[in-house]
This record gives sequence, structure tokens and C-alpha cells, in this order.
Amino acid sequence: MLPYEANRATQKTPVAVISAEERIKGFDEVIGAYTKEQAVNEARRCLQCMKAPCMQGCCIKVPIPDFLAAVAKEDFAEAYRLITEVNVLPGITGRVCFTDEQCEGHCIRKVTGDGVAIGKVQRFVADWAKENAVNIAPADPDEQKRLAGKRIACVGSGPSAVVCAHELASMGASVVMFEANEQTGGQLRYGIPTFRLPDEILDYEYRLLDNKNITVVLNTTIGQDKTLVSLLKEEGFDAIYVASGADKPNMLGIEGENLKGVVTSSEFLTAVNTLQVDSLKGKRCVVIGGGDVAMDSARCALRLGAEVDIVYRRSLEEMPAHAIERIFAEEEGVGFKYLYNPVAVVSDENGEVCGIKCDPCVLSEPDESGRRAPISSGKPHEVIPCETVVLAIGNGTNTVVAQSVPELDMTKRGLIIINEETAMTSVARIFAGGDAVDGPSTVLSAMQAGRLAAQGIAEYLAKM
Ligand SMILES: Cc1cc2nc3c(=O)[nH]c(=O)nc-3n(C[C@H](O)[C@H](O)[C@H](O)COP(=O)(O)OP(=O)(O)OC[C@H]3O[C@@H](n4cnc5c(N)ncnc54)[C@H](O)[C@@H]3O)c2cc1C
Repeated sequence: MLPYEANRATQKTPVAVISAEERIKGFDEVIGAYTKEQAVNEARRCLQCMKAPCMQGCCIKVPIPDFLAAVAKEDFAEAYRLITEVNVLPGITGRVCFTDEQCEGHCIRKVTGDGVAIGKVQRFVADWAKENAVNIAPADPDEQKRLAGKRIACVGSGPSAVVCAHELASMGASVVMFEANEQTGGQLRYGIPTFRLPDEILDYEYRLLDNKNITVVLNTTIGQDKTLVSLLKEEGFDAIYVASGADKPNMLGIEGENLKGVVTSSEFLTAVNTLQVDSLKGKRCVVIGGGDVAMDSARCALRLGAEVDIVYRRSLEEMPAHAIERIFAEEEGVGFKYLYNPVAVVSDENGEVCGIKCDPCVLSEPDESGRRAPISSGKPHEVIPCETVVLAIGNGTNTVVAQSVPELDMTKRGLIIINEETAMTSVARIFAGGDAVDGPSTVLSAMQAGRLAAQGIAEYLAKM
């Protein structure tokens, strides 16, 4: 018997979303927050099933039914405590996790309707804690002594490094975080646009770094300004966690892609997120690619005033972007050109970009992996007029950090190879995780990697 009245609605509690006309006027958050009543109402839809399939979809293992039960009882402080025992970035993940595939995608409620809107309830709890200045509970005193006297370097300040640094600092280690950029955050700050993740939320949750055991050193590229070896041998660190991400943009290798009007999604989104981009009013912009990063880039270009088309070489069915991101982009007015393979960027007599030449395609039969490849239809090439081209065709790893250590085993794609149980690389005392190991992945998996590595480092150092 539940100590509250269950909500038997099959559909989830709707949340306010800013209209497309309004939202393209700026970079304000698009998806609104649940009110207290809505969050409680939605939490009461959880059936509290014993097997909790939702947790199978959450790699960090937030105790979902328990925190939803706490929200259902209006005990938000308890809900926050339960979430942050394993997830120290609840407001961030409550906004950016792809919950339709993760927790919510596994919810038993989906059999007869919508899954419980777990992410939105979590977001409510995180925002409630922010408003009420409720903090993450400190580790217990014994745990705080576990790594006392140990010094650990973290490379990067994305979600993976931050979680690792927080865990190690909670065990009493002294952590120095080296970040190449001017600000912390990794893709949370420089990639994901503020209309999905406001800076205010990021900055608030990154207060985890305001910890006496953590020192942040910005503008320092490991592999250039210092090396992994020098950190261990000259600076006396006991271990290193490498979480340098995967931000090296892939290129198409087509004629004209080095022209001035062509930018990579990394460059473009960084410029947008650091307010270093000019208005695109009156310009036409083509974004090449079909993933979430292409959607983010297109939606940013639109907000800067451009007329935007996404050019994708396969069809809607194969498009890797999450449906919700594509639907938002469509609603906002982004055009979609499917089955167009870009073959050259075209410039005018002044060398300025004036279009992108595409080969109209059809799809082959599915290959062994089941994926259908784009092949030329034989129709004449078409030029789509534009002044700006954004390449959003995926990222590889930046190998600067690893270059100075030839013994560090990496895959052919430049991903760092680790022992999956300990997170240690082929070089003793160097651990790694997040996108640098997995390739472009998710915030949650990067966080989980940071936690695992912190445990791996603690266990390794305990034996030394
Ligand atoms: C545009 C975009 C949108 C995304 N949207 C989502 C989303 O909605 N949901 C989701 O779950 N995931 C999303 N992702 C993926 C997610 O952001 C990443 O998987 C996650 O940030 C990876 O975390 P990380 O800590 O491994 O690396 P990163 O976040 O990439 O952080 C790596 C950090 O290391 C620093 N660094 C790199 N090399 C060095 C060096 N040599 N020395 C010092 N510092 C270095 C970098 O400057 C960076 O700050 C998105 C990614 C992008 C690009």
C-alpha cells in the first residue's frame, strides 16, 4: 500500500515548452520546468515495480523508484539526497540525458502509455535544491581519510573529470585539474547550447569544484605545456585521470572545405557559447550531418538570424539525431535535405562561399550491419546556395595529451585503451575515461567512467 494516492494517468504530465516563434528569438531554455504539483503528480505515476527496469537504462544507477517515492511524498530533500549519492550533476543530467532511451525508455508504464518523465522530475528536485540551498551530503568521515596525502591530476574538466575529481577529493586526496580551455565544463559549456543547458545551471552544479581539496588550473594543455610523464615524475602526482574528451572534428575531405565560410561544429558551437560569433542575419547556412550536434548547430544558426538547411546523405529513417532534437529543429524552421551527399564547397569570384554542391543519392540495400549506404542516383549535381557551411559529421579524439607517452595503448581511432575494471591504461598510474576512451558518447556515461576511475585509482593507491 503506497503512503500516497497513485496517479493512474497513462500519459505523462505535460510540461510547458516555449513556442517555436518565441524561442528562436534568443537562447533561453526551451523546455520549461515542472511546478511542485506537476512533479509530485508525475512521481505518483511510478508503479514502484520491484525490478525497476528504469535503472537498467541508467548507467550511473540513480535509485529511481526510491527518489520518485520521496517526491511523491513531497520529501524533496530526501529525493535530492538519494539522487546525489550517485549523481552529483542532477540538474545537468535532468536536462540533457536522453531519457527516452535511458531510464524512461525502460519504464514499465510504456506498455500502456508514456513512461514516467523521470528526467523532468529529477530536474525539478535539482532546481528545488538550488533554490533552497540544499547541498550534497559530505562523504562520511572515514571515507574522507582514505586518500589523505595522495595527489592526483585530472586532465580535462568535462563531466567525467569533474565527477572523478569530486570522488577523489571526497576521499581526502588533493586533486589538481588541468584544463586546456579558459573555462571549465568541456562539452557542457562549449558544445551543448544554452537553450538546452543554461550556464547558470552548469555553473551552479560545478560549484563541486569549490572544494579545498581541488585546484583548477586553466589554460594548460597537457601534452604541450606539461606532459603526463612530467606530472608523474617531476611534479610528484601519484596518479592521473585523463578525461580529455573527443573534440577533434572529422572533415569531409571535399574540395573547398578550407574556405573561410566553412567551420566545424566544434568551432561554431564554441563561438556561439562564448558569445564570439557575429549575427548571421540575411545569410543562408547549410549544416552537414544528421546527428544531435548537427541539430544543435542548425538551431544556433537559426537563432543568429540565418536561413538554415541540414544536408544529410541518408534518409530520415537512418538519421542518428534523437527524434526530439529533430522535431524541435523542424518546428523552429530548419529545412531538411535528405539524400544529398556534399561533393564540393563552391565559392564565387571573390573566393567567398556561395554554395554547396551535392550529389543526389539513393540508398543501397542494407549491408551486414543492417545500415543502408547512400549511393549516387546518377542525377545531375545540385548546388544549394549558402554563405556559411557548418560541418557536423562527428568528432574523433584529440591525441595531444597522449602523444608524449608512446607506451600508452590506443585504438586505431585514437581512443585510449583501458582495463575496464580498473580504468587503468597500459601505463601504470595513468587512468582514463569518458569520451577519450569511448569516443563521442553521453554525459551520463562520462560521469560513470569518472566514478569508476576514482574507485580504480583509490584501490590502486591503497596497494602502493
Ligand atoms: C554539441 C554537443 C551536444 C551534446 N549533447 C548531449 C546531450 O544532450 N546529452 C548527452 O548526454 N550528451 C551530449 N553530448 C555528449 C557529451 O557532452 C559528452 O559525451 C561528454 O561531455 C563527455 O565528457 P568528457 O568529460 O569525457 O569530455 P568533454 O566534455 O569533452 O571534456 C573534455 C575536456 O578536456 C579538455 N582537454 C582536452 N584535451 C586536453 C589537454 N590536452 N589538456 C587539458 N585539457 C584538455 C577539453 O578542453 C575539455 O574541457 C553532446 C556533445 C556535443 C558536442
